[in-house]
Amino acid sequence: MARYIFVTGGVVSSLGKGLSSASLAYLLKSQGYKVRIRKMDPYLNVDPGTMSPFQHGEVFVTNDGAETDLDLGHYERFTNISAKKSDNITTGKIYSDIIKKERRGKYLGKTVQVIPHVTDRIKDFIKGDITNEDFVICEIGGTVGDIESLPFVEAIRQFSNEVGRSKSLFIHLTFVPFLKSSDEIKTKPTQHSVKELRSLGIQPDIIICRSQKNIPLDQRKKISLFCNVLIENVIETVDVRTIYEAPISFFNEKLDNQVLKYFKLKPRKKVNLLPWKKITKTVLNTKKLVNIAIIGKYVNLKDAYKSLDEALIHGGIHNNVKVSLIRIESDKLKPSQINKVLKNVSGILIPGGFGKRGTEGKISAISYARKNKIPFLGICFGMQMAVIEFARNILKIKNAGSSELDKKCYPVIGLLNEWNKNGKLIKGTNENLGGTMRLGLYKAKLRHNSLIKKIYKSKFIFERHRHRYEVNNNLRNKFENKGMIFSGMSPDDMLPEIIELKNHPWFIGVQYHPEFKSRPLAPHPLFSSFIKAAKLY
Ligand code: GLN
Repeated sequence: MARYIFVTGGVVSSLGKGLSSASLAYLLKSQGYKVRIRKMDPYLNVDPGTMSPFQHGEVFVTNDGAETDLDLGHYERFTNISAKKSDNITTGKIYSDIIKKERRGKYLGKTVQVIPHVTDRIKDFIKGDITNEDFVICEIGGTVGDIESLPFVEAIRQFSNEVGRSKSLFIHLTFVPFLKSSDEIKTKPTQHSVKELRSLGIQPDIIICRSQKNIPLDQRKKISLFCNVLIENVIETVDVRTIYEAPISFFNEKLDNQVLKYFKLKPRKKVNLLPWKKITKTVLNTKKLVNIAIIGKYVNLKDAYKSLDEALIHGGIHNNVKVSLIRIESDKLKPSQINKVLKNVSGILIPGGFGKRGTEGKISAISYARKNKIPFLGICFGMQMAVIEFARNILKIKNAGSSELDKKCYPVIGLLNEWNKNGKLIKGTNENLGGTMRLGLYKAKLRHNSLIKKIYKSKFIFERHRHRYEVNNNLRNKFENKGMIFSGMSPDDMLPEIIELKNHPWFIGVQYHPEFKSRPLAPHPLFSSFIKAAKLY
């Protein structure tokens, strides 16, 4: 039977619960155990799919097409275990399931309540879709004490009671501030946070203390005494120089060791930290800079393009360069300033996006990349913009556009049912947007002798999608005659998946999101190749 590890957070948010959980998952996996890692989010949205990246950062897409919390991206990158739909749940989803069931009369007239119905649904999530995993790590979003997280905390308390303490472990991550004025490390916020958790019936077994400075033995003893945990189970996590150092730091603090000890288990294999050591060294010592411009709508929010930022860094690691990300707000990019703004960049990237704002700035930047032979990567919306740019400026279709943005345009990008054989828009067919997204893993076949095939070194690829609109395949010959090749297609030859330019050293647009599959220990070939081209530019 699986052992369950619950990770809660206290004092403040953004302490790195996701990174701590992911590092622990890596260490346990590296010891030879089968691990699963999941996230429970206390907000009321059914999933983060409709949330603005400004609110919640990136929407991470899984192989099986779930739109999930960005922490699942951390998990995948650290553990190399692909997350599933069944690894993320929100309060909104729980309530929506319960209300649907209630409407169908499935509660047989009973009063439907938080306890037991909501807590039961949470417990079903925790143990659902598990086969032969040794460990299931469940992170609870938010901070203990929030109204929203109460049902989750109650559910994990009940769960632990049901499976027994020998099969469940509670880890609480707290903040241990350093006060400059008194030159002291303060344990009181941790004590209060644990008190709060205990008032909800949960005694943590391990406390991870996030701190700017190393925590001296005396303070550790204090935490151990007041919070009622063994001194060896007071684990510190001091700010790391790069996130790739986190597994090393937790290993040095013996987090994995204490977890195994708690469950009376022995390591099956020796932990391999070498890849993380190597990567940390590269990240810290590489001096050569490559400037990559990311032109998008949410560039000022740190987490809005999390997987993309990471994938570019991975590409840099692979090429022994430091990638400097120059984030440019597409809205503010005026065509007259393009030369000046993009003068010092060696690569231009237009990420995924939705809606009209800032599109003209993106299109101007693509023209600039095309004409000046600057390496260009367009992802999803970025690819669609590249197709529009080419149609307008090379095919001379002046009103070429996407029906997402302009109902009156000539849709070189549109919904599948929108164009007739001549590529003309059929009016009135694109009103219903619900449930029409292409989500998750899809296969594509790559054209012989194309740049993309050289990069992937494979005839077929599987990549993750998250979009509603497609490139108008009826215009394929027109594009190809003028030098824009549709070098990747869906297996039925209907949907263009990849475009590239014949007369350009590196100009690629992809309808999917390769960034979701890049890992620090296995950089995605597309990003490695893009950064290599930028390095040579
Ligand atoms: N808005 C575009 C579409 O729905 C692109 C989406 C994206 O970039 N993820 O097709």
